Amino acid sequence: MDFEAQHEHELLRESVRDFFDRELPEAKIREYDRARRIPRSIWKQFAQQGWMGISVPEEYGGAGSDIMAGSIFCEELARRFPSLATDWLLTSMTARLFLEVASDEHKREVLPKLVQGDFLMGFGMSEPGGGTDVLALKTRAQSDADGWTVRGQKLYTSLADDADAILVLCRTETPDESKRARGLSLVLTPRNQPAVTVRRLELMGMRAACTCEVFFDDARAPVDAVVGERGRGWYHLLATLDEERILCAAMYVGITSAALDQALQYARDRVAFGRPIGGFQAVQHPLADTATELEQIRLLTTKAAWMLAHGKPCATEAAMAKLAATETAVRATDRCMRVLGGYGLVEETPMERLFRDTRLGPFSPISNEMVRNFVGERLGLPRSY
Ligand SMILES: Cc1cc2nc3c(=O)[nH]c(=O)nc-3n(C[C@H](O)[C@H](O)[C@H](O)COP(=O)(O)OP(=O)(O)OC[C@H]3O[C@@H](n4cnc5c(N)ncnc54)[C@H](O)[C@@H]3O)c2cc1C
Repeated sequence: MDFEAQHEHELLRESVRDFFDRELPEAKIREYDRARRIPRSIWKQFAQQGWMGISVPEEYGGAGSDIMAGSIFCEELARRFPSLATDWLLTSMTARLFLEVASDEHKREVLPKLVQGDFLMGFGMSEPGGGTDVLALKTRAQSDADGWTVRGQKLYTSLADDADAILVLCRTETPDESKRARGLSLVLTPRNQPAVTVRRLELMGMRAACTCEVFFDDARAPVDAVVGERGRGWYHLLATLDEERILCAAMYVGITSAALDQALQYARDRVAFGRPIGGFQAVQHPLADTATELEQIRLLTTKAAWMLAHGKPCATEAAMAKLAATETAVRATDRCMRVLGGYGLVEETPMERLFRDTRLGPFSPISNEMVRNFVGERLGLPRSY
């Protein structure tokens, strides 16, 4: 592994920071967070920068970069605006799914629009009765001569209200309790139809990610709506998990680094008892611990990304990176917020938003308990669930 930062990665980092300074300063982020919405124009601006298709090959209009670039990008987004990083990660995962499993025709139809910021896709997997135990899902799709009929309910579908379509994981074949992973398909369902009702959830964190409850009351999808192979939706998803976990880890590296920067700044500026509070050992030590842990999660995430970029199996490393980064970010925002005293609770500080947003990490997109179950199995222990 090469520890020297690559020139193009540094350029990417700088261009994201410039973009936020110019186009999306803190006051605007706060406004979008309060409005619980990211305007569509942001996605168009991202598209102009080539950021909607960082890992999409050039033949579909993307930048054709690898996961190393993707994780640097996601880290930088999360440093400023974690809700935006959440939705970008989602968009990037749906693009990955298309790349991995969609027919050539489907790729040519969807990917260029997605890369241009003209097509937003939500991803509906979780349901009221199936979150961690996702295979308990009940949403069904049935085919007829004219297409598909989708019936069921999804919970926590990010981007859903703004999306043009939702990629819905549904059961398309007769359920067999002993083989729950079989018979699921990914059905691309148009969002704007009366049979699709969306209700925004009022969440404590990641407010601008537009996370919704979605009802499909015999919603219609075209004949060619299944992405990938019918009945193999679950296995298609498994192929994208390493990338998703690495990008997720990168996101929480970004949050940890932003929290540390803010706490350091405050520790230098805030004076008490005649000197900056950063001069007190009780303030220095938690910051030193956070800096050390940040370095650990950055290394773990970079290693997993490097392995994926080099075609090496990295399921364990990707899972460990997700686990470590999300738990560290929770600790880091807690510690760093204390350094700010009362100011940490003031809504004008990015810190209070980071503190709220970071609460998502330990259970999404997969709960850390399930990550530990997975790592336990990788250590040769029996499956615990
Ligand atoms: C802001 C936000 C955005 C989201 N975006 C999306 C999205 O776009 N698309 C989507 O499909 N989903 C999305 N989700 C859903 C998210 O992925 C789920 O919340 C997550 O998978 C956990 O499911 P759950 O909330 O139903 O928790 P539950 O499954 O109810 O779990 C509750 C607790 O039980 C524990 N638990 C359950 N089973 C076990 C076990 N076997 N061993 C140990 N512990 C266990 C869990 O770890 C957790 O601590 C989003 C959620 C939020 C809050």
